[in-house]
Amino acid sequence: MDDYDSLLDRARSQIPEDAFKRSGERFQVPSVQLMIQGTRTIWQNFQEIITILNRPGKEVLKFVAGQLATGGTFEGNNAVFQGKFVTENVIEVLNRYISSYVICPVCTRPDTSILREGTAYYMHCTACGARTSIRPV
Ligand SMILES: [Zn+2]
Repeated sequence: MDDYDSLLDRARSQIPEDAFKRSGERFQVPSVQLMIQGTRTIWQNFQEIITILNRPGKEVLKFVAGQLATGGTFEGNNAVFQGKFVTENVIEVLNRYISSYVICPVCTRPDTSILREGTAYYMHCTACGARTSIRPV
């Protein structure tokens, strides 16, 4: 776990603070919309956000649920988490995913895709051509 955290920290420290602002209109992630229903949290615009991120919903759901230390499932277009979560927490987790798996650490653009070679995973950037080794979600 320490290794993973320090990797994440290292990845994050390489991203300029204004990375998200600079990518501007090409990469606008809508605000996370949550609804608490009983003891569950419904993420209402999950589908819309993963479409913009261009990542498989299953992977994003797994990452977010893992970070929130809870279970997550799909119900229609919604992602549903067991437990009550506040929007700020979910946004923070989503930003962590974006920093680690969407934003190219070399040029800070979001034009990336995930490639798999054997057991290794890479983030390939179509903007600058960089290939960055990543850990699978
Ligand atoms: Zn790049």
